[in-house]
Amino acid sequence: MSNVIKGLHHVTSMAADADVNNSFFTGTLGLRRVKKTVNFDAPEVYHLYYGDETGTPGSVMTYFPFGQMPAGKRGNGEVGITEFAVPPGTLGFWKERLAAQGVTGLAASAFLGEARLEFDGPDGDSFALVEADPGGRAPWTGAGIAAETGILGFHGARMRLRDAAATGELLTFMGYQKDERDGNITRYRIEGGNAADTIDLEELPGASAARQGAGSVHHIAFAVDDRASQAEIRKTLLDTGYQVTPVIDRDYFYAIYFRTPGGVLFEIATNEPGFDRDEDTAHLGEALKLPTRYEPYRKQIEQILPPIAA
Ligand code: ZN
Repeated sequence: MSNVIKGLHHVTSMAADADVNNSFFTGTLGLRRVKKTVNFDAPEVYHLYYGDETGTPGSVMTYFPFGQMPAGKRGNGEVGITEFAVPPGTLGFWKERLAAQGVTGLAASAFLGEARLEFDGPDGDSFALVEADPGGRAPWTGAGIAAETGILGFHGARMRLRDAAATGELLTFMGYQKDERDGNITRYRIEGGNAADTIDLEELPGASAARQGAGSVHHIAFAVDDRASQAEIRKTLLDTGYQVTPVIDRDYFYAIYFRTPGGVLFEIATNEPGFDRDEDTAHLGEALKLPTRYEPYRKQIEQILPPIAA
């Protein structure tokens, strides 16, 4: 299956307040909102997508803001830390900016030779900025953060697991290679990916299981180029005994989902057709986009959804 997976596609998390979520990602972090749509399974809830200019796979953080929702509890069986890449030498800027905006949980450290700055999202989500070679990626500058300092996309993600062996095996099967290890964290890396290339598995045998809620990652999506590659990986996963969903049309990509042995929900998403399939690049994320089956209910949906800043 090597060379089919291209790194991360998107990470989807849950939030409480939509407007708070929107202003944190577009304002504080300076990402572009590339799509404003609804949860396709619960159209009274937004699905907000934030990324680079066009929502390049590997840059897209997405949220379901459920409104009044209890906070999640960190633990095993989840994506513990979602990591964004920033250009080398910019963590000082970021530390100052995030502190000035009241962001909590700021902690600078180094891991496997990479400088990183951990911080909390508005719902206690765990994030890190990691200094990394831009590798041809460019940040969105529309929010006023300079191209030399802006977020380039994802660096990777760190999963918390009671036992990392089976998930490590799965990642290897998906084309990742076991890389360096530091303490109880083992890095896996994909060759020829989109630069959102690392998955770190943190083994915490004594920790209790995570409880999903606001601030929890709902699922993590890996990128494939197209539907043919997705069909290939789906068949291989099924043959290996994984229970994989049928292909689901998410309007901006095609998705399949499966639960991993460590408890984390994985998705494989296609790079096609992309977030500009129904909006001009210049106006991505501005209008409320609904899947065709909900268009007849647009008025009602618009009345239910809370207002968020442009
Ligand atoms: Zn997804």
